[in-house]
Formats: sequence, C-alpha cells, structure tokens
Amino acid sequence: MFAKIKTVESFIVSIPRDTPYLGALGPGERVTERGYLIRQGNGTIYPTTDRSVLIKITADDGTVGWGETYGIVAPTAVTSIIDDVLGPVIVGRDPRDPMVIQEDLYDLMRVRGCFGGFYVDAIAGVDIAVWDLYGKLLGQPLVKLLGGQRRATIPAYVSGLPGATLEDRLAVARGFQARGFDAFKYAAVVSFDGIVQEMRVLREGLGPDARLMVDLHWKFTAQEAIQLIEQLMPYRPYFVEAPCQPEDMEGQAHVGANIKVPLALGEEWRTVYEYRPRMERRAMSIVQPEIGHTGVSQFMQIARMANAFHMKVIPHASIGIGIFQAASLHAAAALPNCPMHEYQHSVFDRNLQYVQTSMRCAAGAFTLPEGPGLGIEPADSLWQFLCPKT
Ligand code: MG
Repeated sequence: MFAKIKTVESFIVSIPRDTPYLGALGPGERVTERGYLIRQGNGTIYPTTDRSVLIKITADDGTVGWGETYGIVAPTAVTSIIDDVLGPVIVGRDPRDPMVIQEDLYDLMRVRGCFGGFYVDAIAGVDIAVWDLYGKLLGQPLVKLLGGQRRATIPAYVSGLPGATLEDRLAVARGFQARGFDAFKYAAVVSFDGIVQEMRVLREGLGPDARLMVDLHWKFTAQEAIQLIEQLMPYRPYFVEAPCQPEDMEGQAHVGANIKVPLALGEEWRTVYEYRPRMERRAMSIVQPEIGHTGVSQFMQIARMANAFHMKVIPHASIGIGIFQAASLHAAAALPNCPMHEYQHSVFDRNLQYVQTSMRCAAGAFTLPEGPGLGIEPADSLWQFLCPKT
C-alpha cells in the first residue's frame, strides 16, 4: 500500500539581517516595535529579518516532504490556518494526489470568501510540501512530475541593487557582471536619485548588452507610467514591472497597450482566477508568478495558461530560505516559455547555509537542485532561528 499523510506541522523561522531587504532604511523610515519597516516609496511593509513559514508533512512510512510560504507579515495567520484547518483535513490523504488536494483545500473556503491572501499562501506552502513528499516517495525530482524537463539550469536576473548611492548600486551590478550575470533589475522604491537617472547610469555603466529592468512598485497612474516609460526608452529596458496599482485592471491594460517595452505583472496574484482577466485583456506580456504564494499546482496552471496567451513566465522570488525557490526552479525547468528567473541575491545566497541542497546561482544561472522531490531541506543550523507561534 502506498504511504499516506500522517502529520502536518508548521514552523516560523526568522533569520536576522545586517541590512534590511532592499537596502538600508531610507529617509523618514523607521522600524516598528514589532520589527517592521515601511518603505516610504510604495508604503509596503517588510520585516527587518528574513522570516518564513515552513511546512513539514510526514507520511506514515516516515518519509518527509517540506514546503514553504511567506512569513513576511503576521506569519501566525498562516500557521494558524495550516494547524487549525488544512493540516487536519489532509491527514490520511494520498500524497500522489497533490493537485486534487490543492483543489479540495481551495474549495473549503469558497463560501467564506477566502480567494487569496493568507489562506491561499497557507495552501501554497502545504501544496509544495505534498509535491516534495510525492517526489521523494517516487524517488523522482519534482521537475519530472510536471510534464518533463527542458533544462537543468535557469538563467537568472539580479534583483535589487542595494547601496546608499547610485554609484554604490552600479558597483553592485558591475560586481555581478564580472561574475557572469547580464540581467539586472532595480527597485523604483529605493531609486532616490530618480528612476530615469538610475537606468541611464546603469546603461552607461554596464554597456549595451546588459538587460535592464525596473520594478515600478505600483507607484503610478496609467498616464504617469506611460510618460515615465517613454523617458526610459533611450536606455532600452528589457521589461518594466508593476507600474499601476493591482486593483486598476484597466490602467494595467492601458499601459500595456501604449508602451513599446514588455510589461511584467503578477507577483501579488495567487490563482488562475486572478490571472485570467488580465490575460484576456492582454494587460501584460510577461507574468511573474510567485510559487510561495501559488504553490506548485497553481503555478503550473498559471504558467501553462500564460503559454496559451503567448506570454512569457519570469518567476518572482523574494524573502525565503530556499524551499519555495527550489520548487520555482523545478517548475521553471519544465516550461517552454520561461527565459529567466528572478535572483534575490541578498536573500538567496545568504540563506543557503541554512539548507541542504545542491541548488546554486552562479555565472548568470541557477542550477536545479539534485535529488528526489524538491532536492532541498532545512539544515540543523536553521533551527536556531525557530520562533514561537505567538
Ligand atoms: Mg516586484
């Protein structure tokens, strides 16, 4: 008889950082008593640590699957949903049914109106753990369970150029360029010298072959965004990201139809139901699903649907210890329409010391982790950062 799910556990880990995500505090920014900072540029909240939620699913034969989702804000909201609802529901289920389990868990809360947010994040983390367990029980890497493997390495773009000055940020990019990276994205929220000026300096400093991207962090109206992107055109951006607020579907589509550079959207959407109306409006030509929010099951549906709309998939990556990043690389390796993957270097590289995996990012590309399932699990050294669920 095939192994069944026996226990589901959730954990919060919080790894201190010397410099917060996206760089040092900007003008007028402070840390709250709960350890959060609010970026003035876009009003978005971040913890000062690398905080994440891990999910451990153990089968009745002792095999363990690991998942991860976001713990950036109020991580106990996610662990409560897992501990109180999702975990007990899937005890006894067959881990060979990951997509069925994901659909069943999503259905549970339809009548409660939980179509996104913390509830779907919690499902995503559980879903990743079920897929990992399934792969381990079969002795196969996740990519082989997703329709087949196209590649063993995924081109990476360097995301975020932390530095107090524009010269410092250019120096960070040049350092990566010297190590074989050719694609760079900066964050408008910390472009203290101006968004156009930053791209001009990067283009002049990195040369004609570098691929440059900017994350506009939902800061602009559609017309403002069109005007701004026009000013970026002399510096040939590879894509521009998230110009308008996500609620402004018409604005997104208006920008997409009126600029001459690919528009990338999607890191904050969690299901095909959020992607579909934007795809139908051709609001973007690149989608950026975040597997820590979608899980493997939804990620693959979103990515395959994007392919049907002739859109590219350039997955998002942010704060985590590497488990959902590994899942994202497996998914990316199975896709025909994924030219590269975000590389959140200040998080990814630092946290590799707390996981056991062969996954790396070097010379411009990620290496897919080896081994069955995701090919990654927490190292003993991670557990010093375990937090109480309070
Ligand atoms: Mg972004």
